[in-house]
Amino acid sequence: MPELLNARVEACYQQAEAFFKRSFPRPRVSLKLRGQKAGVAHLDENLLRFNLQLYRENSEDFLRQTVAHEVAHLIAHHLFGPRIKPHGEEWQLIMRGVYELPPNRCHNYAIRRRSVTRYLYRCQCQDFPFSAQRHALVGKGRRYYCRRCKATLVFTGQQSRE
Ligand SMILES: [Zn+2]
Ligand SMILES: [Zn+2]
Repeated sequence: MPELLNARVEACYQQAEAFFKRSFPRPRVSLKLRGQKAGVAHLDENLLRFNLQLYRENSEDFLRQTVAHEVAHLIAHHLFGPRIKPHGEEWQLIMRGVYELPPNRCHNYAIRRRSVTRYLYRCQCQDFPFSAQRHALVGKGRRYYCRRCKATLVFTGQQSRE
């Protein structure tokens, strides 16, 4: 798996080199990033850090989007210097022009939290996972409504763990 990630980094560099018709120094790549961020580009150190757990859980999107996102930060830094905004027009140009990707700032990978129980409620149009606290309030007579269809939310009897 890390080989795929390294190969994608290299492919992103080759695309940028073909596009800008110049070479860029390759970064060091670390997979030791933890927490909520998928990747971080350290501009002065020419270092990319990626979150191995999020990569494992979202490999396809991670390779396509996150790797290009972080590489684009380093490319933008090399081309335009330190004064540009991180997700400004220079970075967006690289995302759109070189990688043909949407210049999304953030990933929406699920972040694993402490496991919690959800109580599934439903109206006529959608499902609502309720917390234990909210489920207990319903037990005490509280009612909740769907804003869209205005129906009362009813417990389905189903629980899930998040
Ligand atoms: Zn970014
Ligand atoms: Zn509804």
